[in-house]
Amino acid sequence: MSDNVLKVSGLKVAYGGIKAVKGIDLEVNQGELVALIGANGAGKTTTLKAITGTLPACKVEGTVAYKGASLKGSQSFHLVEKKLAMVPEGRGVFTRMTIHENLMMGAYTRNDQAGIDADIATWYETFPRLKERSSQLAGTLSGGEQQMLAMARALMSHPDLLLLDEPSMGLSPIMVEKIFEVIRAVSAQGVTILLVEQNAKLALQAAHRGYVMDSGVITMTGNAADMLDDPRVKAAYLGE
Ligand code: ATP
Repeated sequence: MSDNVLKVSGLKVAYGGIKAVKGIDLEVNQGELVALIGANGAGKTTTLKAITGTLPACKVEGTVAYKGASLKGSQSFHLVEKKLAMVPEGRGVFTRMTIHENLMMGAYTRNDQAGIDADIATWYETFPRLKERSSQLAGTLSGGEQQMLAMARALMSHPDLLLLDEPSMGLSPIMVEKIFEVIRAVSAQGVTILLVEQNAKLALQAAHRGYVMDSGVITMTGNAADMLDDPRVKAAYLGE
């Protein structure tokens, strides 16, 4: 049996006349942290939306298999039940719920109350800011704090696959460092992750493997450490 958690084959997405994704292949294996890097507008977010089945079927061609099956037509709650968690660009926290309620929502498919309480305590230890503000509405948090909460909420569901869209976007350097520390720690615990990032250096430093996307196509793929050393990646994405 293959150890693919995610296998994308011949994926194409068009928005009317705009071809955003032009036939890509991508896979993420059990326990891997895979980075999908590329410039603004390369088609990375569109790829994630196609993976989660949240784009209208008429726009999408090709296949996406998550644990061997298609996710077409899935609603958000189906994804959580299938142990797939996504932290979207712009975070997507429940702004009118408290921080604590957001974390509880992340665990709604679980019924091990003691485990849920222990996980929340662990997240409060990881992100003390969230603990201090646990009864505050999530909408009042800063961008960085919302990113922490979104990631913690996603992980409360104990996902088999975590999709992260631009977790560093709009954050201060200190927050970016903290978020990447958590991504590396979560990966080290064995969670399979597909990380979409414009910060190619940080993403490849954290990842096992990487893909470069440019104008809707995958232009390069390989071991993340090799890609960090690749002169083409250095020139185009690492500013070296
Ligand atoms: P960014 O980092 O800026 O989010 P990206 O690599 O995630 O970039 P996408 O957001 O997937 O890129 O966009 C790919 C292309 O598809 C872009 O040219 C974008 O303008 C276009 N596009 C994205 N969403 C839509 C939409 N709903 N309707 C029309 N065009 C879209």
